[in-house]
Amino acid sequence: ASLKHGTLYKASNAFVQWTDAGYIRAAASVADKRCSTGHQLSPIDGRLIAIKDNICTTGLPTTCASNSLKGFQSPYESTVVKKLRAAGAIICGKTNLDEFGMGSHSTNSASGAVNQGTGGELSVGGSSGGSAIAVASQQCWASIGTDTGGSIRLPAAYTGTVGFKPSYGMISRHGVIAYANSLDTVGILSRSVKDVQQVFAITRGHDTWDPTSLTEETRTKLTSAAKARPRRPNLRIGVPVEYNVAEINPTIRTIWQQALERVISAGHEVVSISLPSTRLALSTYYVLAPAEASSNLAKYDGVKYGNAASKPKLEANVLFATGRGQNLGDEVKRRILLGSFTLSASAFDNYFLQAQKVRRSVQQDFNAVFGIPNVLQESSAANPEGVDLLLTPTAPSFPPKLASLAHYTPLKSYGDDVLTVPASLAGLPVISIPTRTDTFGLDTPPGSVGLQLIGQYGNDDFVLDTAGQLE
Ligand code: GLN
Repeated sequence: ASLKHGTLYKASNAFVQWTDAGYIRAAASVADKRCSTGHQLSPIDGRLIAIKDNICTTGLPTTCASNSLKGFQSPYESTVVKKLRAAGAIICGKTNLDEFGMGSHSTNSASGAVNQGTGGELSVGGSSGGSAIAVASQQCWASIGTDTGGSIRLPAAYTGTVGFKPSYGMISRHGVIAYANSLDTVGILSRSVKDVQQVFAITRGHDTWDPTSLTEETRTKLTSAAKARPRRPNLRIGVPVEYNVAEINPTIRTIWQQALERVISAGHEVVSISLPSTRLALSTYYVLAPAEASSNLAKYDGVKYGNAASKPKLEANVLFATGRGQNLGDEVKRRILLGSFTLSASAFDNYFLQAQKVRRSVQQDFNAVFGIPNVLQESSAANPEGVDLLLTPTAPSFPPKLASLAHYTPLKSYGDDVLTVPASLAGLPVISIPTRTDTFGLDTPPGSVGLQLIGQYGNDDFVLDTAGQLE
C-alpha cells in the first residue's frame, strides 16, 4: 500500500503514541482500493493525519503530555477526529505538546522535549510542536493542532510549515481537552495551503456537542458578509505599526518588508494601520488564559481525573486526593496559581476584569481597520476604506536552541507569543505561511520565516485563498 505523504519513521520525539503500523498499512491499502475504483471517500481519503495529544481519540490514549493523564483512555472520540476518519483519513498517532498546551517551545512535556531532528538543537515552537515537526519531517501528510495563543502558528513558523487557526467556533472543540475555552481553537498544519483547505473542508461545520460551535445560520451570515468586501481589483493589505516591536529580529523585519514589497509589485496596496491595544494584548492573554486554565484544571484532583499518589474512592465523598500535584509540571502549576490569584476576590477587579476590558478593545481595534464588519458584534460596521487582510511576522525571532531555553525565564518565553496573541483574543482566522529566506540571499536558520495573514472574523476562506496566492 502506498502511504500517502507520510512515512512510518519516528523522529524528533514528535509523537507520544503511534497507531499500530500493521493497522496503518492495512487501512492504506483499503483506501488505495477505494481510490482506484472510483469510490474515494473524500480528497483526504487514505492520507496520514496526526492528532495533537490534547484531542480525544478512541483506540489511542489521550494524555496532554501530562503525567496526571498518563494512560488515560477517552471513552469517546472528538468530533474533529470522527469527521477525519469518516472522510477516510488514517489517524497515524498522537503528537507531543507542551503539557495541556501551556508553552511556546514543546519542552514542557512529560514525554520529553520535541526537537527539529536536524541534530536536535532547535526549538520546534509550541505547544503544537509535535504536530508541526511531524508534518515538516513527513511523518504524516497533515496534522491537527490547537491554538489558544499561537500554538499552531509559532510551531509552523519555526518548522517551515503552514499553520492555520480558523475563526473561533469554526471547528468543533467537542473532545478537545480544555486549556482556556474562550480562546482554544482547533486548527491544521500541513506543507501547503491547498492541503490545509482540504482538511478544513472536512473538519469545519456546526456541532451540537460544542456549545460554542457556530450555527449554520451564523455561518451563512458570515459568508455573505465576506462577499460584501469593498469592490476593488486589488487587495488592500494592512501593516499594523504596533507589531513592529523592538523585539523583532532585524532579519525577520527585513523579510517582512521584502514580502510587502512583493505584494506591492503584484499590484496590491499596502497601507499602514494602527491597532493601539496591541501592546497590552500579551499581558491580557497571560491573565485570561491562566484564569480559565485554573478553573479547567481543577478536575485533575486525582479523584476522577488525574493520577494521585494514593487513589481515594469516589464514593467516599472525598474532595481531592493527596499527592495530586506531583503529576503536574512546573509551568502548569504556575498557571494554576496565577489564575487562582487573578480570580480571587482581592485581585479580580484589578486583573481579570481589566483584562476582559482590554480584550474588548483589542477586538474593537481589529473591527475598526477591516473593510467588512464583524458579524458577531453589532457595533461593528463596514468600512469602505478598510483593509482586507493584515500581514505580519508570526514570531519575533528565529527558533532558539533547546539548550538555551533552560536559561529562559517564564516571562521571556511568554514574549515569543507577542505577535500571535492579539488575533487569538479577537478569535480571528489567521494563517502562518513559510517564506524561504534563501530567495532573499539571507543566510539565516532555519531557512524559513513565518508570516501571518490575519482576516476579519469569519473570513477564513479569503485568508486561505489569499495565502495560496502568496505562497
Ligand atoms: N504559548 C501560549 C501559552 O502558553 C500559547 C499556547 C497555546 O496556544 N496553546 O499559553
